[in-house]
Amino acid sequence: MGRPLIIAIDGPAASGKTTLARRLAQELNYLVFDTGILYRAVTWLALTRGEDPQDETRMTQLARALDINLHPDPQTGETRIYLQGRDVSQELHSPQVDAWVSVVAAHPGVRMALKDVQRRLALRGGIIVVGRDIGTVIVPEADVKIYLDASLEERARRRYEEARSRGHQVSFQQVLEDMRRRDMLDSSRDTAPLRPAKDAFILKTNGLTPEEVFERVMAVIRERTL
Ligand code: C5P
Repeated sequence: MGRPLIIAIDGPAASGKTTLARRLAQELNYLVFDTGILYRAVTWLALTRGEDPQDETRMTQLARALDINLHPDPQTGETRIYLQGRDVSQELHSPQVDAWVSVVAAHPGVRMALKDVQRRLALRGGIIVVGRDIGTVIVPEADVKIYLDASLEERARRRYEEARSRGHQVSFQQVLEDMRRRDMLDSSRDTAPLRPAKDAFILKTNGLTPEEVFERVMAVIRERTL
């Protein structure tokens, strides 16, 4: 695998995209670009300023002016996300942001405002781009497209455990219902709905360990880039 590739990973919430992306990045020495944080950042700004996430004009303005900075944490190596000079990495994954992000992400103006920055970063290559519409809209020319999926219950269970470990007080039922709603909004929106690209490798991760998912995807990467 000589040439630096663009690898797109799409799929619903908690289908295992981030875990897979990190493992692939480690193996290939690539960067991970998690595009969900852009939509989360706009949502966080709206909520902290008391603005209405349903107001497309205002949300598009926030997206156009987005001043986001990423810095690796010197201790853990994880990417920290800064907005207006403040580390908001934890807050971007709060239940409040979870509840509104798909409403913000459904606005065509917001998606358009965030498209160029995503493409510019992706086209550098040597990168794993994670999202919902990467293989279909953002970089349809990606070298490898992966679409991960898992049952709603399995994904809700993963997200619930993750939320508790971050110290958020939520019930499993609340996480499940929020995820069902988010899935519905993400797949039914008119602009760039969640769906696999025609040439994507689709993998259902129920009952598979992260390492098994990684091995299967590595086999696809080798096969498609020979
Ligand atoms: O991946 P994550 O859960 O952080 O994404 C949060 C939300 O951002 C998704 O539910 C979806 O509404 C939106 N999103 C999107 N397109 C992307 C990435 C995320 O619409 N490429």
